[in-house]
Amino acid sequence: MSNMSALNIPASVNDLKIQNYINGQWCPPTTSKYMNSFDPATGQQSCAIPDSNYTDIDNAVRAAKAAFPVWSNTPPEERAAILNRVADLIDQNADKLAMIESQDQGKTIVSARVADMPLCSGYFRQFARCIVEGFTESQSRMNAPCTLTAVTKVENSILQSNTQHVPSGVAALITPWNFPMLMVCEKLAPCIAVGNTCVVKPTELTSATPYLLTMILQAAGLPKGVANFVFGTGVNAGEPLVKHKDIRLVSFTGGCETGAKIGAMAGGLIKRVSLELGGKNANLVFNDCNIEHAVATGVRAAFQNQGEICLSASRQYIQRDIYEKYVQMFRQMTMKEVCVGNPASPNTYYGPMVSQKQMEKVLGYIRLAQEEGAKVEFMLNPNDPNVKSISKDGKLTIKGFEGGYYVAPTLITGIKQSSRVMQEEIFGPVVCMMPFDTEEEAIMLANDSQYGLGSSVFTQDKTKLNRVMRQLNTGSVWGNSWMSWDDNMPFGGMGCSGTTREHGPWSLEFYTETKALYTLV
Ligand code: NAD
Repeated sequence: MSNMSALNIPASVNDLKIQNYINGQWCPPTTSKYMNSFDPATGQQSCAIPDSNYTDIDNAVRAAKAAFPVWSNTPPEERAAILNRVADLIDQNADKLAMIESQDQGKTIVSARVADMPLCSGYFRQFARCIVEGFTESQSRMNAPCTLTAVTKVENSILQSNTQHVPSGVAALITPWNFPMLMVCEKLAPCIAVGNTCVVKPTELTSATPYLLTMILQAAGLPKGVANFVFGTGVNAGEPLVKHKDIRLVSFTGGCETGAKIGAMAGGLIKRVSLELGGKNANLVFNDCNIEHAVATGVRAAFQNQGEICLSASRQYIQRDIYEKYVQMFRQMTMKEVCVGNPASPNTYYGPMVSQKQMEKVLGYIRLAQEEGAKVEFMLNPNDPNVKSISKDGKLTIKGFEGGYYVAPTLITGIKQSSRVMQEEIFGPVVCMMPFDTEEEAIMLANDSQYGLGSSVFTQDKTKLNRVMRQLNTGSVWGNSWMSWDDNMPFGGMGCSGTTREHGPWSLEFYTETKALYTLV
């Protein structure tokens, strides 16, 4: 059915001709308009992105609607076989996909190859398995026409109560740029596994690997119209998609402001909506922790993917008696480990920001901290041969990559809890540190945020660890760890970090309608 040679993945993002993928065919936008994409490492123009509009969205939704009756009635085993082929093709092409991801997004090749790609194929395998076997005994209902939930005596008859999970219809999947292909796979796999069809609108900043995914879907034998991809901006393509009358549910990952708009649009039209939004995540480091481990985890949590992770620990609170030691060790480890440079090099840990706009946003927060009188340090190895210069606000110039959107790994101390730098999501390599005295104060500081996505606690006292973890108001809480992952666990945020839970069985709940069936026998 599929083979690697069927996929014509070029070695460079510059050679991609990105087109919409509608009803199993690649087509230009009806506007014939394209936007420029830029290589974040060099600032040079790379490929062109369709600037699609309502007509393209409407064509895609129609295709998805037409495909729904057959796909939703396709036996789970057949759907699972296609999903497994998608996973195999991602794995077979992972090196090339990772290279394009790195060129398009600026993330390091190592990170794209070791983290993003296996997670992408993992989602397809996971949901292929669960629609056939279920996550647990009780979830095997996804495969059953209905589940007997209760039997009640009613007068002289028996009332049998059953629940049935059915696919919802046509879904809109809207994704951000920090994990361009992964965010699409995270939504697409459960969405189509349970029998929905969909229109995907990836971010206009990083459309390359979502486009390559369309080649994989076709090569894997996914029937036409089941997954349609329309590329373009949020305003021109995203909004018409959310508002389209035939869209039954919207799954969105992105910023809080956009999430609020999408929530209002979808809610006003009575569509199901899942919002996975930003974070301002806290690490709480107690004086009885394993400090080497806490520092190593803290550095990773601050600077992995250049801090462009919704779960990045951008606030780190450290108990006062180990504060100086922690800061000093953190500084040293960052200078040693966070190797800045060409993201395509296997030795690089840390690449550029995704775009000029994102770089300017991050630099703006650094300047704000400086204006507020905070201590701002750029943690770079002074002997790093890659670094040509660094500006007062942390803009890095890297040798051979002078036009790239690089920002130095930045540590801010002496900042107020109420500062915008402490309260707003910067989404870049900027970490704020502050000392605390008591457990109560640590919990209060961590919870003093409009966001509620993730948090971590470091202590060797198990009782305290449990006590503190239970009081933190975030969707995920890690003890002596950060971002350890289990795909069978719920993922999502509280407050401005989102409204729903996805992953594992929670994705199945979101992407299906639950019906109650009562039969008097
Ligand atoms: P964004 O909100 O700017 O854009 C996200 C997507 O929404 C893009 O595809 C964009 O084109 C689209 N969009 C924008 N305006 C729209 C509108 N009016 N109608 C419909 N669609 C619209 O976010 P971003 O800058 O791409 O991503 C960064 C954000 O994503 C950060 O806040 C980060 O924390 C968050 N994020 C959250 C998670 C999570 O799982 N919680 C994961 C990754 C990223």
